[in-house]
Amino acid sequence: MESKLTIYNTLSRTKEEFVPYNPPHVGLYVCGPTVYGDPHLGHARPAITFDLLYRYLTSLGYKVRYVRNITDVGHLENDADEGEDKISKKARLEQLEPMEVAHYYTERYRHAMEQLGVLSPSIEPQASGHIIEQIELVKKILDHGFAYESNGSVYFDVEAYNAKYHYGKLSGRVLDEMLACTRDLDGQGDKHSACDFALWKKASPEHIMRWPSPWSDGFPGWHLECSAMSTKYLGERFDIHGGGMDLMFPHHECEIAQSTAACGHDAAHYWMHNNMITINGQKMGKSLGNFITLEEMFTGRHKLLEQAYSPMTIRFFILQAHYRSTLDFSNEALQAAEKGLDRLMKAVATLDKIKPSNQSTVDISDLTRRYTEAMNDDLNSPIVISVLFDWVKHINQLYDGQQQITKEDLHTLRQQIHTIVFDVLGLRDERAADESDMIGPLVNMLLEIRQQAKANKDWATSDQIRDKLTAIGIRVKDRKDGADWEIE
Ligand code: ZN
Repeated sequence: MESKLTIYNTLSRTKEEFVPYNPPHVGLYVCGPTVYGDPHLGHARPAITFDLLYRYLTSLGYKVRYVRNITDVGHLENDADEGEDKISKKARLEQLEPMEVAHYYTERYRHAMEQLGVLSPSIEPQASGHIIEQIELVKKILDHGFAYESNGSVYFDVEAYNAKYHYGKLSGRVLDEMLACTRDLDGQGDKHSACDFALWKKASPEHIMRWPSPWSDGFPGWHLECSAMSTKYLGERFDIHGGGMDLMFPHHECEIAQSTAACGHDAAHYWMHNNMITINGQKMGKSLGNFITLEEMFTGRHKLLEQAYSPMTIRFFILQAHYRSTLDFSNEALQAAEKGLDRLMKAVATLDKIKPSNQSTVDISDLTRRYTEAMNDDLNSPIVISVLFDWVKHINQLYDGQQQITKEDLHTLRQQIHTIVFDVLGLRDERAADESDMIGPLVNMLLEIRQQAKANKDWATSDQIRDKLTAIGIRVKDRKDGADWEIE
């Protein structure tokens, strides 16, 4: 039964068996947010995808060092190394110190991730805290002949690199074609070629974020931080590098080129990319008016939303699609996810109310086997969820007495379901979290007193307890051997 984890490696374009360099240790690097605005739906998908990977690897017994960076410098408004730094711009507009902007949005991001059940990574390094490492990396690339200095800036020499290695191997782009399309732009600025990218940019006099370097007072290029910080914390060869598909080019392509230019080989063995989300079939974008922040999702305060959607509804919805498929957000789809999640959580709670028998008519190994197969098949979370829903049916049948289960099997089933639902999928029962933990025991105690009253034929007390509970929104349902309750 022991099947092995396979993951789709964007670099080889095939599913590969996952074999870490140094088991049980696994190095995982994921590109984190640029912190100049409120966290939005586009942040939720990569965070949840790699959280699932982190949780699953951990559940398999690996010791994962998960590094997810914070970009607080060097991310310019467009990918062609032009325009203002995104954080500087926000700071200028709001008359703040750039690090105030970065701190504020980093905190907002962390809080939203916590609400979404995304575990904190092992290390969360900031680009601005690793300027020395980035300067060292630029020096190495210059020494190896894959970069040149031009008017105080340093650019990566893509053509020189491509003569020895292969620029474009991740994204599948061909340098000659890229050059053909961009030839018109040649001669602009300090670059030798339009395909070259900045490793270090000389700061203009009005640029606020600047550091001294051998070349100029300036700032690092955006791609550099990930090469510098991944190798600093995970070594020159580490296992998995992840991020959104939108980062594949130029960001990840440039990272590979930088690491290879510096060390002679790519640092990451497996590259994983999650697909994008769309909203009502359209790409999300500020100009399209369909840009939704996570806070707007959680409160329902956006003109496209019919209601608020809880963090767990969003998490469950994202997990219902495979991470490499596109995912379309619509009110209808989110409402369906909300109902599905509610049904799942009710079944998990029902597990605690099942009475064991002396035989089992359900095969609990089916759950473990199908779950493991699905997760090992490139983290197929939608299949895992459909397996869970098969078990929701079984659980309800066990509860109704249509099927039986032994005490041992029930114990195992409960453990398995808890591992899958809470530990690996990272869901949480928001219904329970909303109420004080004391409500359950208190209601159970009242129902026990009511049961005694009934045994004593004290119908007045029995009815009074039921009616008073109903009045505060707790519905009591009588059964043969007691009573159940639920919050309406
Ligand atoms: Zn990155």
